[in-house]
Amino acid sequence: MTKTTQLKTSVCILGCGPAGIVLGNILLRNGIDCIVIDKYNREEIYARGRAGVIESTTVQVLKKNDLADTLLKNAYTHGSCEFRYPDKSLTFEYGSLSGGDVHYVYPQSDLNDDLIEKYIKDGGKLLFHHEGKKIVQSDDKVEVECYDLDSQKTVTIQADFVAGCDGYHGLARQSVPPEAVEIYSKQYNYRWLAILAYAPPSAQYTLYGVHPDGFAAHMLRNSKISRYYLQIPSTDTLEDWSDEHIWANLHQRLAKEGCPLNEGEIFQKRIMELRNYVMEPMGYQRLLLAGDAAHIITPMGGKGLNLAVQDAGVLAETLISYYLENHDLSYLNRYSEIRLPYIWRAQEFSYSLLTMLHSPEGEDLEDVRFRRKLSESKLSQLTTSSTFAKNFARNYVGIV
Ligand SMILES: Cc1cc2nc3c(=O)[nH]c(=O)nc-3n(C[C@H](O)[C@H](O)[C@H](O)COP(=O)(O)OP(=O)(O)OC[C@H]3O[C@@H](n4cnc5c(N)ncnc54)[C@H](O)[C@@H]3O)c2cc1C
Repeated sequence: MTKTTQLKTSVCILGCGPAGIVLGNILLRNGIDCIVIDKYNREEIYARGRAGVIESTTVQVLKKNDLADTLLKNAYTHGSCEFRYPDKSLTFEYGSLSGGDVHYVYPQSDLNDDLIEKYIKDGGKLLFHHEGKKIVQSDDKVEVECYDLDSQKTVTIQADFVAGCDGYHGLARQSVPPEAVEIYSKQYNYRWLAILAYAPPSAQYTLYGVHPDGFAAHMLRNSKISRYYLQIPSTDTLEDWSDEHIWANLHQRLAKEGCPLNEGEIFQKRIMELRNYVMEPMGYQRLLLAGDAAHIITPMGGKGLNLAVQDAGVLAETLISYYLENHDLSYLNRYSEIRLPYIWRAQEFSYSLLTMLHSPEGEDLEDVRFRRKLSESKLSQLTTSSTFAKNFARNYVGIV
């Protein structure tokens, strides 16, 4: 028989990805009661390994809240990347052009798990295998109904606020009434094949392949694992991409003379939809969204995890001010007002990098040729215009 357990807290955090666990840690260290719930257990969350490029701004948020120790001990840093064409290559020193800001390379799974470890060690409340099913708001509270997948019990969490940190496919985004927000979105007519391989890095920085067959990229994750991406037509399926076919395309689009790619066993292969999505404002009444729940960005430029952590930092500060200083609900609007300009800057940069590096697809070959020349012209400005190069570098490392 199904039983119901009732819990109470100040902030119920739905989702234990980067946005949720950063928010949980910051609220906990500031004495604000919260409960984090996730539908997966710790190992399952770890296995969702995705991002790996972390901006200095994100590291600042983590450092400020005493959450960056393990990352700083273990991360590589990047201050350059390379654009490879079939007949030439360009190394771009964005670290020095941006005034010294760099990217930190550290797997999202490890960062997330470090922060789960810290949260639990510091006494934080975390319910794994609890799936949010329903969010019900009233004037003075909000309730999350969730299902405990282990005990098969329904658990109701009553809170002042729900932080929806449960990603694009989660419950929070769908619980915002459509008429209360504006949605902006974009879909593409190509997709990415995303690969993780047990292959030592082929370069100590990110490689972008700009090739008539399509875009490709290489990113190091650590000394044993590399991430690769290939632009593929939106009609392709995983069956169209055997390991041999993948490596042949990667060599074709990314390798250059004297710099072959290191091959290795492919242990993760998935097709990624490329999409952009922004919800304005980022929430409704007592439900506040952070990270992918509020906005999706293509992985180009490595912004998603960074925006999620930076959202969590601002949301935490807004909630802390609410509890410790003003208890004014309208003050919470500040969260969206502060974050949206940064989110749009990242969206614009990621979009323009994507269109600059991808082979356009379409039936109209004249249009495809024309757009390819426009991309070449734009990319050439990295070497011909110091203003363009500096601005690009600053956006790339996330300074806005
Ligand atoms: C292949 C790939 C590569 C990427 N590379 C980069 C990169 O290099 N740099 C970068 O910045 N970003 C990158 N990103 C994007 C980045 O991974 C995401 O933007 C980031 O994970 C968003 O964090 P989040 O906390 O908002 O959501 P998520 O990480 O999606 O976490 C949401 C959590 O909510 C839980 N959840 C969902 N629904 C429910 C429910 N109903 N009840 C309870 N729990 C629920 C999920 O289990 C999950 O743990 C990449 C993404 C992909 C897919």
